[in-house]
Amino acid sequence: MSIPHDEIGPHKVLELYYPEEKLKAIVVVDNVAIGPAIGGVRVSPTANADEVYRLARAMTFKNAMAGLPHGGGKSAIIADPNDPNKERYFWIFARSIAGLTEYIPGPDMGSNEACMAYIHDEIGRAVGLPEEIGGIPLDKRGATGFGLAVCAEVAKDFIGLNLKGARVAVQGFGSVGKAAAKFLSEKGAILVAVSDTKGAVYNEKGIDIDELIKIKDETGSVINYKKGEKLSCENLFCVPADILIPAATPDVIHEDNVKEIQAKLILEGANIPATREAEEALHARGILVIPDFVANAGGVIMAAAEYAKETEKMAFDSIEEKIRKNTKALLERVKKDGLFPRAEGEIIAKERVLRAMDYRGYI
Ligand code: NAD
Repeated sequence: MSIPHDEIGPHKVLELYYPEEKLKAIVVVDNVAIGPAIGGVRVSPTANADEVYRLARAMTFKNAMAGLPHGGGKSAIIADPNDPNKERYFWIFARSIAGLTEYIPGPDMGSNEACMAYIHDEIGRAVGLPEEIGGIPLDKRGATGFGLAVCAEVAKDFIGLNLKGARVAVQGFGSVGKAAAKFLSEKGAILVAVSDTKGAVYNEKGIDIDELIKIKDETGSVINYKKGEKLSCENLFCVPADILIPAATPDVIHEDNVKEIQAKLILEGANIPATREAEEALHARGILVIPDFVANAGGVIMAAAEYAKETEKMAFDSIEEKIRKNTKALLERVKKDGLFPRAEGEIIAKERVLRAMDYRGYI
């Protein structure tokens, strides 16, 4: 495993293997200076150590940027998210991390509230729990999508975009993608393109979001929505849209497709959905990219509120306040200093993490 180390972390890296199940998992606790690390458990057959490390670092910055009393971490169970043995995998995984008390697991791609309940049942430590056992189900409530819509409201003023009538393309129609489409449509935006693993649908006049959610839930894919043109997953990134929301897998915006992107604003619903080079190239073209650790913090803000035993209302108020404030602070810095947004955001977040490390006597 070739995970790099720097002045921030990672603090601990676990590579787990269960020969009897032929199951692998990876846990990266990146930094705990600000508090115990919160970060999702991804279930994916393709996740690897490098990806988990990059995701863990994004969580360190996200939690610091949002002013949460938590460090950053991430884990991945290397398996098919639709595997019928999923409950057993979570049970085995939970027992392996029982002693890793500085890491609090949460939901991520391929996992959900039920998975967090399995972990909580086993080790008494997880966030994003079902409400029946005292959680605030952040995916059901659309916490991250809500935050993305707040982010759009602030970002629009920096690029002169009107959300009323703004055309939105969403890659990945899961918990984040659905909620982002829904909350943005409440502000007047129009969903024109959407994709999932099976393909993409495009309709320049607009897609009926409620009907699409029903079709996705009932048939498993957006491609069964008939009132639109079918596209390949890759072509979703090039459709004429004002706002593009990658809300699925890492590195989907890269040097080969970056020139084709027509959007004015990219809100990173997914974690690390674009390569660093692609983000720099977009900045040079005048396309505003709000990086993952600012734009998609809604979920972890709600998770932290649940952990602190706050109410759902307090969680939503906190998302609104923190994302509004952070997006504005970031964009003012971008306007003043001219670096691309991720680089500016990293400076703010890194300063906070290093200050906490200093207080603790780590440096
Ligand atoms: P999810 O499992 O609910 O949904 C993912 C969706 O993406 C599914 O519809 C799936 O079909 C689709 N998808 C997967 N690969 C795809 C591909 N190559 N092309 C097109 N579609 C594809 O996951 P989620 O919770 O919505 O998370 C999505 C992303 O957002 C992840 O990167 C996750 O880390 C990030 N994120 C999630 C939250 C949260 O609150 N759930 C918070 C912050 C960041």
